[in-house]
Amino acid sequence: MHTDQSPSDIAPEPEPREECGVFGVWAPGEEVAKLTYYGLYALQHRGQEAAGISVSDGKQIVVFKDLGLVSQVFDEQILSSLQGHVAIGHCRYSTTGGGTWENAQPTFRTTAAGTGLALGHNGNLVNTHELHERARQLGVLGKNGATTDSDLICGLLAVAAADRGIESAALELLPTIRGAFCLTFADENTLYAARDPHGVRPLVLGRLERGWVVASETAALDIVGASFVREVEPGELIAIDAEGLRSSRFANPEPKGCVFEYVYLARPDTTIAGRSVHATRVEIGRRLAQEHPADADLVIPVPESGTPAAIGYAQESGIPYGSGLVKNAYVGRTFIQPSQTIRQLGIRLKLNPLREVIRGKRLVVVDDSIVRGNTQRALVRMLRESGALEVHVRIASPPVRWPCFYGIDFASRAELVANGADLDGIRRSIGADSLGYVSLDGLVAASEQPKSRLCAACFDGNYPIPLPDDALIGKHLLESIGDADAASARMTVTPAGYGAEDAVRRP
Ligand code: SF4
Repeated sequence: MHTDQSPSDIAPEPEPREECGVFGVWAPGEEVAKLTYYGLYALQHRGQEAAGISVSDGKQIVVFKDLGLVSQVFDEQILSSLQGHVAIGHCRYSTTGGGTWENAQPTFRTTAAGTGLALGHNGNLVNTHELHERARQLGVLGKNGATTDSDLICGLLAVAAADRGIESAALELLPTIRGAFCLTFADENTLYAARDPHGVRPLVLGRLERGWVVASETAALDIVGASFVREVEPGELIAIDAEGLRSSRFANPEPKGCVFEYVYLARPDTTIAGRSVHATRVEIGRRLAQEHPADADLVIPVPESGTPAAIGYAQESGIPYGSGLVKNAYVGRTFIQPSQTIRQLGIRLKLNPLREVIRGKRLVVVDDSIVRGNTQRALVRMLRESGALEVHVRIASPPVRWPCFYGIDFASRAELVANGADLDGIRRSIGADSLGYVSLDGLVAASEQPKSRLCAACFDGNYPIPLPDDALIGKHLLESIGDADAASARMTVTPAGYGAEDAVRRP
């Protein structure tokens, strides 16, 4: 299938959108495409617009990618046709470049030596404009129609690899890339993984009996039966082939892990920097109860991401915990546009109240975050209509006041409900009887990471990786400067060996 619709187009209210999931496996004798498929399945929450897998049998790389969920893009027949011993996979939510087929990943390039290079990226770069200019001068723009920062990395790497090989080309290129990046990439025989010096996004290494796995989250190791070895270190490049695993440093580590991974992005059964995401969320709930107690009869979560914090809130406060909302888990993941009648149901499309639980109660409602406030406004109204006497909203993160430039699509600053509003203004805006956010100190303490090793820019505005001028950053930066490059792209000579048309399959 090939469609321009995004599953999130029909979500009743926008949520923070994840950035991408990456996976890689080097395992002779294993069905690497199927392992990658299951790995991507475990990472589906990180990107639901497109999915792709590249596989190499040592002679040639084949990439299969399309728009849609992992389960929509791949079937048994396609996976069986992807034979080899090294594979990478990607599930995408677009943070640079539109949601087109060309921008789905793995992105693919050929080197001048005629070898292939497939690459998947989680994160978002902040010097995309500079890399674009470098790529333009080298004549490697637009060869495959992609308009992503990820494809610029792939193109620059393929050019640099011509005379020195991919590993040493990567060690030279990676220090010049700024921003958030977890990369998995592969040539015909070798799997590579690299993580930016700040380690903004998670990336882990796992061991199979007959090979190695890299993945965005530990939950993706679990699903393929890989044992956790360690995190890929910030500023580290790993190469895995028949000679074994080699580790190199391309930059000194300055860890600034995304604290929002703990709040919402990562799966609860994932571990980041040695800390369980689920345990962190429960602890956030406990701290929320200490910081913002409420006189209430029942604590209910906004499922699923509010559930662990609601458990923690109930444990700490002694107020009973219950399920008051049922989530229609798959509604935001269909590509079928709802009818106007269904669209008007708004939040009810996604959450349905259990009236017999809610009626006559003073409720504490625990959610993970507030971005625009539309969801919470509709939720409070729905709970009152279902008979709640009072609605006390508790949020398991501080107010989101700043946009993220490192791979999460919240909203523009003007759209954020907390932008310029005080607590009572936000409370009135959503119609709650009371409102409490966990403090940043409380969130950081719950993560058990030192504050100095975390990024919390969307809460405090302190961006750990310097940003360029507004005009040189943004999701559609490459489209906006892309027209002028079309001519040079057509003039670019396709290297010897196989070209992208041979390697990248459309459904
Ligand atoms: S700005 Fe927020 S969402 Fe973005 S990396 Fe930093 S903590 Fe994470």
